[in-house]
Amino acid sequence: MSSNNLEQLYRQVIMDHYKNPRNKGTIDNDGKMTINMNNPTCGDRIQLHLQVEDGKISDAKFTGEGCSISLSSASMMTDAVKGQDVDEAMHMSHVFSDMMQGKDFDDDKIEESDIAALEGVSKFPARIKCATLAWKAMEKGLSEDKE
Ligand code: ZN
Repeated sequence: MSSNNLEQLYRQVIMDHYKNPRNKGTIDNDGKMTINMNNPTCGDRIQLHLQVEDGKISDAKFTGEGCSISLSSASMMTDAVKGQDVDEAMHMSHVFSDMMQGKDFDDDKIEESDIAALEGVSKFPARIKCATLAWKAMEKGLSEDKE
C-alpha cells in the first residue's frame, strides 16, 4: 500500500472511532474510579472511568469532549485495555508514549489494533497531547489505585 493510501486508511479509522466511540459512558459499580484529565492547549477534557478487579481492568469507559484525535484515542485505548492486567495496560501505555515520540516500538497488541492508526500523530507535536490524554488518565488512575 502506498503511504498515501495508508494515511487515508488511518484517517478513516480515526474518524470511525470519533463518530462511533467505543465505551462511551460511565460505570455504575461500587469501587470504580474516575480520573479527570484536561488538555488546555486544545480544549480536550476527558473523564476516564475504570473498574479494576483482581489486578485486571474489568471495565473502562469514558466521557468528555474534545477534538477527533483525543476522543478517538480514548475510544481505542478503552477498547484495548479492557480485560487486560494492570501491568499489561501500563506497558501498552509506555509503548504508546514511545510511538508518540516517534521511537521504534515493537508490540503486537498495538501494531495489530486500531491504535496503530494514531502513529502519524507523532509528526504533529501540537497534537501529541491530544493523543496521549486518555492514556495519561489511565496511568494516573492505575498508579493511584496501587497506593
Ligand atoms: Zn485535541
